[in-house]
Amino acid sequence: MPNKAVPGLPVVKVSARGIARVKAGHVWIYRSDVTNATDVQPGALVSVTDERGRPLGSALYSSASQIAIRMLSSAMVDDLPALLSQRLGQAFDYRERFVQDTDAYRLVFSEADFLPGLIVDRYKDVLSFQVLTQAMDATPVREIVTAHLFHRFSPSGIFERVDPHIRELEQLPARDSQLVSGEKSSTIFTMNGVRFHYDAAAGQKTGAFLDQRENYAAAARYAHGEALDVFCYQGGFALHMFPQCTSVTGVDSSRPALEIADQNATLNGREIEWIEANAFDLLKDYASSGRRYDTIVLDPPAFAKTKKTVETALRGYKELNLRALKMLRPGGMLVTCSCSYHVSETEFFGVVAEAARDSGKNLRILEKRGQAKDHPIIATIPETSYLKCLISTVSY
Ligand code: SAH
Repeated sequence: MPNKAVPGLPVVKVSARGIARVKAGHVWIYRSDVTNATDVQPGALVSVTDERGRPLGSALYSSASQIAIRMLSSAMVDDLPALLSQRLGQAFDYRERFVQDTDAYRLVFSEADFLPGLIVDRYKDVLSFQVLTQAMDATPVREIVTAHLFHRFSPSGIFERVDPHIRELEQLPARDSQLVSGEKSSTIFTMNGVRFHYDAAAGQKTGAFLDQRENYAAAARYAHGEALDVFCYQGGFALHMFPQCTSVTGVDSSRPALEIADQNATLNGREIEWIEANAFDLLKDYASSGRRYDTIVLDPPAFAKTKKTVETALRGYKELNLRALKMLRPGGMLVTCSCSYHVSETEFFGVVAEAARDSGKNLRILEKRGQAKDHPIIATIPETSYLKCLISTVSY
């Protein structure tokens, strides 16, 4: 690809701050760092230059997002379909190389696969995808993506999952979640030998929490005795821990999630007690009434959705962890997670340490873990790393 502005492509000029960010390996340029973007269509492939016109690379433009530009390449791309095809192939190859023990995993993770704005998940023979940006919503782009998915995986169905809020923010026309190809939108997948129902037309976000897959297996290695899976959703941790435990209880506030959890338990011949409750209230009651467990998993939803809510989120994490620690028997296991990107690893581990101190128990950290490898972390893009999972054991 020629390393000069591509004739015919709109040029977007960016400030020195924007240039510095990209040179440091990031791919986002905020609108406040765009100094000139005249006649650029929403979602266009653009050439990015500094203010003097020196080329920086190619990018996808959004007319709506605060992230105005998502860099695609430091080269000047003149053939977007060819580049997308190459990136999709690389994303699929990466999974083939590094993902094991599952037929459900994330195939494409947006910026972490250098395909900004596109998420694709595989659940055995059903593929689901989500479009997050104007550029990825273009019909030719969708056609390339579905053609590649078909060619590589011969799925029984490809389902588009729509997040109406994201489409609104990106000023994209409303769309329904629906099958875009094939006829199957539900299936049964297997991870770490545990079977799960998947229905693309229901459930939260992308359906299952694939990013926890390796942590499920890790938690199962340490789980024992009476186990409590708090914020259990469709039973990921609970089902994995069952064979090692004498009893397992899952807690969640969502009845539909617990109904699927129960179907998953039946599917695997596992007997688990599911409790529909607010986890904060339940832990408070249990802790004060002297309930004890040998293994507790805490996997709450992202408490900090923005930087502004970090303080409140940390208080939430502290409270949960303190209650759980109080309920653990000597030698007990705490598996505690945070999926809030805005809460750093240091902040999260710090709060768990404070909870340990307040509970009067010693906490030995056995494993500091993150997201499964199908959710790659790009060293120069901090936002690609968001999941924290600490496995530890208490002593007195
Ligand atoms: N551990 C799960 C994922 C948890 S996602 C897995 O591995 O699949 C977070 C879950 O928390 C969701 O299922 C949501 O319904 C539940 N939730 C949110 N707020 C809650 C609350 N206050 N009490 C109990 N559950 C809650």
